[in-house]
Amino acid sequence: MTFIALVCAAGQAYAFTVVVHPVEITRGDPFVVVVGNTTETPAAEFGGAGLPFTSCGEACYIALGVAPLDTKPGGHPIKVSDGPLSVSLAIKVVEGKFDTQSLTLPDDKVTLSPEDETRADAEAERMRGLWAMVNPRLWEGDFIMPLEGGISTGFGTVRLMNETKKSIHSGLDIRGAYGTPVLAANTGQVVMDKDTFFGGNTVILDHGMGLYTVYMHMQESRVVEGELVARGEVVGLVGSTGRSTGPHLHYTVKLDATNVNPRALVELPLGRAQTMELGKATARADNSLMEQKQVHKQ
Ligand SMILES: [Zn+2]
Repeated sequence: MTFIALVCAAGQAYAFTVVVHPVEITRGDPFVVVVGNTTETPAAEFGGAGLPFTSCGEACYIALGVAPLDTKPGGHPIKVSDGPLSVSLAIKVVEGKFDTQSLTLPDDKVTLSPEDETRADAEAERMRGLWAMVNPRLWEGDFIMPLEGGISTGFGTVRLMNETKKSIHSGLDIRGAYGTPVLAANTGQVVMDKDTFFGGNTVILDHGMGLYTVYMHMQESRVVEGELVARGEVVGLVGSTGRSTGPHLHYTVKLDATNVNPRALVELPLGRAQTMELGKATARADNSLMEQKQVHKQ
């Protein structure tokens, strides 16, 4: 389902359009906001944070948002403003189903030595530094899955390691044979190509607008830091390096430092949203979804 709002000042022809899609999501899912018929960069607020917009063509701006895993189920407002005009729409966040999993690992991979802990902390710190950087948009159109295969651990799975340490799985574990190519989910710049303690051979792509994809446990990387890669380009090969019990790809998507369900990102019709065809098509197909609001100019 999609929300479409036509916002106009009383007695004036001036209006801007807002498309929010989808309007019902599960915790951890992303959504897209497209603002049309505007000349200046709009602003949007969701969950107390602003969403960065980027141009998607003439008089068109696009932003991505996410409902973090710890979002309370229910309606959450998204406020979109264009100059003096604003509209508030609601996104319904549903609880969803997340697995629980018990895992047995060598003790030295769960209870870290002081040296390993120092190393893992430094690597986590470097990654947090990356998530904080919001660079110009590089992603273009729809995202793809970096590897097709069975899922051994789903996104958001609550894991209990060696019956003591609890963690929430930040991404998807996708099964694959050693050496299977791992593909870039979209256009991006390589901002990390490093052998890390937990992730083994890890590649991180910055897609711009605060969106990052992370590829872990690879046998080897096929990219270097600073390189620009296109969607579908090989970033590395499936392996079992780092804290891993068999060949698979751990794939994480970060938006605004928040874990995003990778499957739900692939389902966002970004290729169409950028040209506003999503909104136009939905409005024609089902007028009942169209919401028209009059907002007085303050
Ligand atoms: Zn994993």
